[in-house]
Amino acid sequence: MKKITIAIDGYSSTGKSTIAKLLAKELGYIYVDTGAMYRAVTLYTMRNLFISEGYFDKESLVRHLFKLSVHFERNEESGEVEVFLGSENVEREIRNLKVSNYVSQVAAIPEVRKMLVEEQQKMGDGKGVVMDGRDIGTVVFPEAELKIFMTASAKERAQRRYLELTERGEDVTFDEVLENVEKRDTIDTTREDSPLVQAQDAIAIDNTHTNIHDQFHTILQLAKDRIYGRI
Ligand code: C5P
Repeated sequence: MKKITIAIDGYSSTGKSTIAKLLAKELGYIYVDTGAMYRAVTLYTMRNLFISEGYFDKESLVRHLFKLSVHFERNEESGEVEVFLGSENVEREIRNLKVSNYVSQVAAIPEVRKMLVEEQQKMGDGKGVVMDGRDIGTVVFPEAELKIFMTASAKERAQRRYLELTERGEDVTFDEVLENVEKRDTIDTTREDSPLVQAQDAIAIDNTHTNIHDQFHTILQLAKDRIYGRI
């Protein structure tokens, strides 16, 4: 059967990863969460004190990049793929609001993007991959057979992220989360290198008012149309 590349781009907390994971499972494809890779590099940057409130030593980060290894491993118990920084599983730590507050600044550095994009291209080399991020359809795999661009209102996205974080026991307020979502939108859409934009041939999907699981079936159909050559 023909294998394709599926790029799921869009704003934060639009349900990209939920859809991408379901698609990968259904099609037997590899799932790659590229946001987790930028988050892992951000955690490294924070731990080495290259970034803090109002301070960012980009040169030191760039100088240390060659030491960094970011990869994924499957958790045999949960079946989920988790991100590693060197030999350390950082899956949980990268999801907190502190990392979210710095990740867009780190992701705007061209050297960071170059390193991670190369890794992503290697992972998707043989096709049969569902990758979610911000620049997958525009930069990482401009030839992807199916490109989806997901949006939802900032308030709705912040509400989803707020629930996720508080369910995990994080001590955050809705306003803090909304501020983070809006700040990341601004940095991600206005950065010079690979800004978040809809690829010309991407299908836009707004899920402010729709259930993500319903949308999954629509997107699965779009994928099957391409796999079986109906498009
Ligand atoms: O997907 P997630 O919200 O975890 O991504 C975190 C951040 O990583 C984004 O806000 C963006 O700054 C950056 N990112 C990126 N390019 C990607 C994936 C994520 O710049 N392909």
